[in-house]
Amino acid sequence: MIQPRIPGLRSVLAGGALFLCGQATAAPFPPPGPLPPAQDQALARDILAQLVGINSTFDHGTVAAAEAVRQRLLDAGFAPSDIQMLIPAAFPTKANVVVRLRGSGKARPVLYIGHLDVVEARPEDWSVDPFKLTEKDGFFYGRGAFDMKDEDAAVLDALTRLKREGYVPNRDIIVAFTADEEAGDDTTNCVRWLIAEHRDVIDAGLVINPDSGLGDMQQGRRLDVNLQTAEKTYVTYTATANSPGGHSSLPEADNAIYRLSEGLVRLSKAPFPASASPTTKAYFAYLATTQTGQVHDDMLTVSKGPGPGFEAAAERLSVTPLYGSQLRTTCVATMLTAGQQENALPDKAQATIQCRVLPDETVAATQAALAERFADPKITLAVVYMPAPNPESPLDPAVLKAAQSISQSMWPGVPILPLMSVGADDSVYTRAAGMPSYGLSGTFNEIGDNRAHARDERVGVAAFYENVEFTYRLMKALTR
Ligand SMILES: [Zn+2]
Repeated sequence: MIQPRIPGLRSVLAGGALFLCGQATAAPFPPPGPLPPAQDQALARDILAQLVGINSTFDHGTVAAAEAVRQRLLDAGFAPSDIQMLIPAAFPTKANVVVRLRGSGKARPVLYIGHLDVVEARPEDWSVDPFKLTEKDGFFYGRGAFDMKDEDAAVLDALTRLKREGYVPNRDIIVAFTADEEAGDDTTNCVRWLIAEHRDVIDAGLVINPDSGLGDMQQGRRLDVNLQTAEKTYVTYTATANSPGGHSSLPEADNAIYRLSEGLVRLSKAPFPASASPTTKAYFAYLATTQTGQVHDDMLTVSKGPGPGFEAAAERLSVTPLYGSQLRTTCVATMLTAGQQENALPDKAQATIQCRVLPDETVAATQAALAERFADPKITLAVVYMPAPNPESPLDPAVLKAAQSISQSMWPGVPILPLMSVGADDSVYTRAAGMPSYGLSGTFNEIGDNRAHARDERVGVAAFYENVEFTYRLMKALTR
């Protein structure tokens, strides 16, 4: 069964993690923090322009983009033997480049992952050419300018800069530029494929995925930098009721539509229990400092984990779906089919139920909880897709400390906010493979103006250059 993954996490979450109701406004970018040397600004911009200029949508594949990256790495002085072009035999257009900056081996390698593919862009929908980098009004426009060719360019520049410096990290730095994060499915996703087929090439003790974990900005004021440590799992069930059928002129008491409907109403009224992982606690502890009144008190309460007042506070917070999604597994009916003919009693009614499962909960337990809510043995549940386990990555003190100190040095007072995503990106595969993975990037984006996957996708020019510097500093801080 094909996994109904939610690709393209940036579009789900980026920049809007806390204040989704924010309206898109043309807020000014605050005075930029430290920027990289002019040479690296020029290089990063050049790489971004080149990558945006290469159409790497699902149908086009990533061969040209991967070739461009490979050539850049050779130009930077990487030995050909340290650069691998890896292409699945079954999918010859899905090219991946993996490079290794060799270190002194004092720790297991750190792996960066960055997807080279982008979602479709129809030129007629855009005000600029989506496959040409355009600088306008303080922004870079183009498909992938924000998701995530900007990050690929920052990582590639950081590698080049470290190579130029003759830097020897204390552990190998591996970077995998990959295909098919956005579209396709489990069969073509190349992070999954690399883990399955080339584990030795990418095996690492720590994974950084700059596809998520961004900086939030509101009205041009920097609020926080997200550090993604976990993702909810995505499980789809069908709930099916059957009944004998017959002519509609002779209704029977047992009617599949009524039976299923009653079960669905029971489900809608019984949310799953609230809980709080270390990431969730840290998330609400920080968020409480930005709130007042009851919301502040409730956030503080849940940040302490289960105890007096926890359930009631979680219930009040869950009125806001974003907060509720952090606190509990959610299951919701998304599709319904029933009956076969207008004058016949239904012989079948079926609902599709979408669950977003907390990292520490199992599919089996979720199904048992669903069955309890349907409370009808004649409603049968079936899993449409069984996801891989996706454990939360522990809040690694070394990663947190590195991120905090770089954030302080670049944007004094801006905290690091641990976060569980409610969608999934490629970290789902590295976490499932037992590699602790963190979504982290220094790209600030105005809340409510997230254009990943949308028309006129863009990244702030200053935000882009700041992240080039952030990426370089982080890569160094994690490897010395
Ligand atoms: Zn992405």
